[in-house]
Amino acid sequence: MRTYLVVGASRGIGLALVAELLKDPTTFVFATARAPNRAPGLHALASPRLSILELDVTDGTSVERAASAAAALLPAGSGLDCLIHNAAISLHEPVTPFEQVDLAVFQEEFLTNTVAPLHVVRAFLPLLRLPPPPSSASSSPASDTSNRQATKIVFVSSELGSLGRAPMMADLGGTYSVCKAGLGMLARKWGTTLKEEGICTLILHPGWVDTGMGNSVNAWMSKHQPGRSKMSAAESAARCLRVIEDARIEDAVAFYAYDGSRLPW
Ligand code: NDP
Repeated sequence: MRTYLVVGASRGIGLALVAELLKDPTTFVFATARAPNRAPGLHALASPRLSILELDVTDGTSVERAASAAAALLPAGSGLDCLIHNAAISLHEPVTPFEQVDLAVFQEEFLTNTVAPLHVVRAFLPLLRLPPPPSSASSSPASDTSNRQATKIVFVSSELGSLGRAPMMADLGGTYSVCKAGLGMLARKWGTTLKEEGICTLILHPGWVDTGMGNSVNAWMSKHQPGRSKMSAAESAARCLRVIEDARIEDAVAFYAYDGSRLPW
């Protein structure tokens, strides 16, 4: 079994990641939602290889409780193979000028999108440092075993978090972009030290995806990038997981897009 933790899996890309992961009979998935009773899509995926945990990334007690619950459910001495931090928010209207930003709203976005991923990873790091369950060694013979066994931390980000791309999308997603750029620095610095102990950290842009968040930029996209089409959450999840599976420890710390291309930091 290869064990994944998907944080923020109630809907959208997170839910699609869980559905895609469960297609592989050698995976076990911990899927978190801040309100599991309001995540019907997640419950519809019910499987003996799925464990749903309550986790609000902005609530420290909730984060620690979820980490303890996962530890209690894993076989003694076994850990996680891959943590995907997917949860995020974008509360401002996407084209809000910086002059009109609501500072309290920005703080809420920063807490969820940048501070919380640090806390979540820190809470689950002891489980990521443990060896995977014993049966991991005998996964699909067709797979690249050494690669597949690398422990991974994946921060789901956005091309809007790229400093290099910022001038091309200057008027879109201001405060959200700032949060994701901060997430990139967290990943790049922390991931560099984690690489020394064999943990592969990636940051991943899932593409423009047909979700609540993705649809909030429809108007901007049709005006500025009319040729671009939106992906379904299922397609994005499948492509993102391919990138995650293919990544090797030498690739840490990289900023990838869903198609395996690299984005500028
Ligand atoms: P959605 O808005 O559809 O889903 C966001 C998810 O994050 C939900 O599961 C939501 O849970 C969860 N979440 C938000 N706040 C918290 C919290 N405090 N605690 C726990 N979970 C929380 O977004 P997407 O699926 O589109 O986005 C997923 C990721 O992809 C995000 O990181 C986003 O930034 C990124 N992204 C998306 C793009 C797109 O086009 N869709 C483009 C680029 C990046 P709840 O149901 O409880 O609200």
